[in-house]
Amino acid sequence: MIRLTVPSIDEDDINAVREVLKSGFLVQGSWVKSFENIIAKYVGVDHAIAVSNCTAALHLSLMALGIGRDDFVLVTAYSWIATANVIELCGAKPVFVDIEPDTFNIDPNRLLDKLNQLMRKRETAKRTKAILPVHAFGQMAQMEAIMEFANRYELSVIEDAACALGATHMGRQAGTWGLAGCFSFHPLKNITTGEGGIVTTDNIEFADNLRALRNHGQNTQSRNRDFILPGLNYRMTEFQAALGITQMKKLDSLISSRRELASGYNRLFDCSQIVTPITADDNEPVFQTYVTLLPKKQAHRRDWLIERLRTHGIETSIGTIHMPLTSYYRNRYGHQPGDFPITDDVYVRSLSLPMFEALNMTEQKYIVDTILGLL
Ligand SMILES: *Cc1c(COP(=O)(O)O)cnc(C)c1O
Repeated sequence: MIRLTVPSIDEDDINAVREVLKSGFLVQGSWVKSFENIIAKYVGVDHAIAVSNCTAALHLSLMALGIGRDDFVLVTAYSWIATANVIELCGAKPVFVDIEPDTFNIDPNRLLDKLNQLMRKRETAKRTKAILPVHAFGQMAQMEAIMEFANRYELSVIEDAACALGATHMGRQAGTWGLAGCFSFHPLKNITTGEGGIVTTDNIEFADNLRALRNHGQNTQSRNRDFILPGLNYRMTEFQAALGITQMKKLDSLISSRRELASGYNRLFDCSQIVTPITADDNEPVFQTYVTLLPKKQAHRRDWLIERLRTHGIETSIGTIHMPLTSYYRNRYGHQPGDFPITDDVYVRSLSLPMFEALNMTEQKYIVDTILGLL
């Protein structure tokens, strides 16, 4: 079976984890601190706060912002469900915005329309607190525009950069644009710690708040054990951090191999009806997922195609989730097909292909030939 993705784990990774396990210090030691420093330096921010996963990173960031009951957070319609769930779990309401048809990222024009509409009325204006853009599949959203709208209306921005470690927009890294960026180290992402996540920020107060919140609300400033907030236990373990440190040594080469694999697929699909991923001007994506679109008239065969490919030894998947049309959000807010027409279309046509360092050209050719043959 050619898998959708396989993490790149080598002897260095295994030895690093073994060393921590042998040390007997599994949590709250120095490995997490070192990993945080490495990420902060790589991304180019003052602070990085490691947590148990990216869902925790997003949840804590919204908590630290004080997002609460009846607040509105603007968010893309098309993402992994955690992006909307964390808003809901804070008691706030996700205000979904449709996407761009080519990059699958939040559409800045639609975002502005929605903002203008919310800001027109006092009641909704005062409830509107933040924007949570996602860098879909490792390509950054239009952050310059998004930051301009956020500044205009005095809103906070938290980047869901789960898939985008190393991606840039206008030469500037993901996780450095908003107040904070949240990254994932799940095995599906470019580098992994098993489960794991991190928040990047330049704001020291925000960082201190996050450090307290991830550790039961314990005051990080004082030697005496005191609790200043009702926090959670969202800490990363030492052996995860050790794995993260060795994984970071490979990040640049992992990104280059993904970029090469992406151009390989692009060439193989040349002259076919499959729509290959489009890179927006000023973007350097990391291709955490390689997402194609089937021709419109073949969309109804997408799930059949995924099944057939499996029998040919090829694991593929849909792109990501149409969040407003999942049962929970549909029932709660009454979203309907047609409310987010671009997401409706992309959701049914998307097909993600295998993408991992060890994938070779022969396998890529087999994958593409099999897809084109079946269609
Ligand atoms: C993977 C992912 C998450 C969640 O990350 P976890 O580390 O699995 O919690 C959130 N948002 C997006 C866009 C993702 O792709």
